[in-house]
Amino acid sequence: MRTRYTDTEDCTCDICGRKKFSKFVRTTKKNKPGDLKKLVGFSIHHKHYRTMYKESRDDIMILCNNCHDAGHMLATNSRICPSVYGQLYDNFVTQTGWEHEPYIIRKKQKYVNKGKKAG
Ligand SMILES: [Zn+2]
Ligand SMILES: [Zn+2]
Repeated sequence: MRTRYTDTEDCTCDICGRKKFSKFVRTTKKNKPGDLKKLVGFSIHHKHYRTMYKESRDDIMILCNNCHDAGHMLATNSRICPSVYGQLYDNFVTQTGWEHEPYIIRKKQKYVNKGKKAG
């Protein structure tokens, strides 16, 4: 079994650069120097789900939970309230390389005109 992307000792957020772990410097009751200390939760963000369970590094982003939540919040809010969040989301995408394809079966979109004339 391969090590999960977020379990490596140098796991770093693709967006903000913070690290998931620091190392203990001194001996404590439970730890010795060099043991990993978790600083913050991390998530694997899937840019798309076409390679689910056999994703390569290019298919995902490794993000701290703050950046991950921010990306999804901006994506959702940019649809709900584009006048406020649209530009923010566009900037976020440009600056971070964020990509996201929602987990839905995408059929080719066919708009059938059911008799109404476009006006
Ligand atoms: Zn981050
Ligand atoms: Zn995600």
